[in-house]
Amino acid sequence: MHCPYCRHDDSKVIDTRGADDGNSIRRRRECPECGRRFSTVEAISLAVIKRNGVAVPFSRDKVINGVRRACKGRPVTEDDLAKLAARVEDTVRQSASAEIPSNEVGLAILGPLRDLDEVAYLRFASVYRSFESVSDFEIEIEDLRSNKCSSSDTSHTSAKIGTSGRTPVTSPT
Ligand SMILES: [Zn+2]
Repeated sequence: MHCPYCRHDDSKVIDTRGADDGNSIRRRRECPECGRRFSTVEAISLAVIKRNGVAVPFSRDKVINGVRRACKGRPVTEDDLAKLAARVEDTVRQSASAEIPSNEVGLAILGPLRDLDEVAYLRFASVYRSFESVSDFEIEIEDLRSNKCSSSDTSHTSAKIGTSGRTPVTSPT
C-alpha cells in the first residue's frame, strides 16, 4: 500500500474496522516515512467456484444477466432485478464462506425470483434444474399454487435452499 502523499511503498495499519455495509473493511494507516495518515477501504471478496473449479469474483451483474433472460416480456423492471441481485448477494454472503459453489448462487436466485415473478421463476428453474418433462413443470406449478394458498411466508423458500445438497467447500489456507 503506497502512501498517497510521498509514495513510500509501505504503511502501518493503526486501526481496522468493518464498514457499515458489512462487505468491506476500512483501515486507518500511517506512513512510516512521512508520518501522515490515510484510510483505505478493501472489499471483502467473495469468490464463486464454477463447475470446472475456476474461481471468479461474485458479481451482481452476472446474476442480473442470468435472470434477465428468464424475465423477458415479463413486468419486471431494472430496479426489481437490482433488488433481486442484492438479495442474492446477501444470501450467499451469509453462508460464511469466502468461496461459494456456483450452484449455490443459482439456488439463492430461485427464492427471490419466485417472489418476483412466477413465470420468470419457472423459466429460470427449468433451465437451472434441467426440467426434462412436462411433469417437472406440473410439480413445480403445483408447489407454487399450494404455497400461495397456505401463506406468503418466505421461510418456505429459504428452507428449501438450505436442504438442497450443500456441498462442503474446502478453502486453501
Ligand atoms: Zn508518506
